Amino acid sequence: MPDSDTTLVGVVGYPVRHSLSPLLHNTAFAALELNWTSLAFEVAPGRVAGALEGVRALGLAGISVTMPHKAEVAALVDECTAVARALGAVNCVVNREGTLGGENTDGAGFLASLDRGAGFDPRGRRCLIIGAGGAARAVALALAGAGCADLAVLNRTAARADAVAALAGAVGRVGRLDDEADVAQADLVVNATPVGMAGTQAENEGWLVPPSLLHQGQVVADLIYAPRPTAWLAAAAEAGARTVDGLGMLVHQAAAQLELWTGLPAPVDRMWEAASALV
Ligand code: NAP
Repeated sequence: MPDSDTTLVGVVGYPVRHSLSPLLHNTAFAALELNWTSLAFEVAPGRVAGALEGVRALGLAGISVTMPHKAEVAALVDECTAVARALGAVNCVVNREGTLGGENTDGAGFLASLDRGAGFDPRGRRCLIIGAGGAARAVALALAGAGCADLAVLNRTAARADAVAALAGAVGRVGRLDDEADVAQADLVVNATPVGMAGTQAENEGWLVPPSLLHQGQVVADLIYAPRPTAWLAAAAEAGARTVDGLGMLVHQAAAQLELWTGLPAPVDRMWEAASALV
């Protein structure tokens, strides 16, 4: 039960009621026997600067940040890590005695999910990302930072693919949708589009990469975690690929946030159990 000694964190987004952050973080706080609580704060577009001032004034230890506020928060915090600055997006704010630090744990969460789900180390491997939004940017930066040898980006809108490939530096390049070789030769293929996501307009839209091009020896990841697995990921498994769904990224990015706030190792297994019971 929260009391006057409780340390408060939260998630800000719009909408935010669907967010699993409070569940994940409260599960972890209970496992660690910490008198901490996480709440969801619905903050309308244009009001996030006020929310950050509230973090300072009310003494919250930090906040998770979700859509649509990630870019605006990156511009408003007092300091950003190199990763958050490169992405221009913050998903975690740490309040250090009134100085707000911005971090982005999505990429680290993705790498941890690949390790946990498939024992995959990107170093020296060929990677392909489908999609070029905020999630693709985080994944591209993380894969390049982890030493992948080649990173191709496939996207409907070419200009956004250029920007993601540029983030990956020397190993980044834009792939061609009409060239099957990029898919065939990839060690890792990542869906970072919402195609296949339950309850969205994109749920039943066409795949940019048909699963018939996927094969044994590949690791295939879908950032979507509802449904688990997506039809695309199920078809990839059918084709013989090793598959990783989006739940691991969700859990590990939240675990990394908790570690930034508390300085303690996150009880990842407990967070995993809580999340997988819900999705
Ligand atoms: P976003 O910024 O809106 O970007 C979406 C990307 O998908 C864009 O590149 C867009 O292409 C492409 N796209 C959208 N609809 C498409 C369609 N029908 N066919 C082909 N491409 C399409 O979204 P985001 O934040 O990057 O999120 C992408 C996905 O990752 C979502 O499903 C989200 O739930 C998931 N995600 C999961 C986690 C996790 O923790 N597991 C974290 C973050 C995101 P254009 O550029 O051509 O518009």
